[in-house]
Amino acid sequence: MSDCLFCKIIAGQMPSKKVYEDDQVYVFEDIKPVAPTHVLIVPKRHFPGLKEATEADAAIIGYCNLIAARIGRERKIEDGYRTVLNVGPRSGQSVFHLHLHMIGGRDMTWPPG
Ligand code: AMP
Ligand code: ZN
Repeated sequence: MSDCLFCKIIAGQMPSKKVYEDDQVYVFEDIKPVAPTHVLIVPKRHFPGLKEATEADAAIIGYCNLIAARIGRERKIEDGYRTVLNVGPRSGQSVFHLHLHMIGGRDMTWPPG
């Protein structure tokens, strides 16, 4: 999608601090981190978010979580991190290209705000 911020980042048309990339996902540092680790794990194929996902998207959504687990291991933050999908504007979703937040490296409270 030519007007999608994350598609532009994936295509290299906008700068980002890349953490990891393969044929399915692009991972980069969030521009406004809320924790010492705050990366965005983004499927390369554009779809708007979880509520628009179909069974065809199940594997990539699972894969994004496995990438988060790998980053948690590599960064030695397995004592506590979160993966978060914001869904819809009321949750705070502001970019409508599905992305998994991976947040960790500090104590966190529950419930989230
Ligand atoms: P969400 O609110 O769940 O849609 O998450 C969007 C996230 O993208 C926010 O945490 C933003 O800080 C982050 N973000 C927005 N623009 C950029 C950018 N150019 N580079 C990196 N992260 C960004
Ligand atoms: Zn997109």
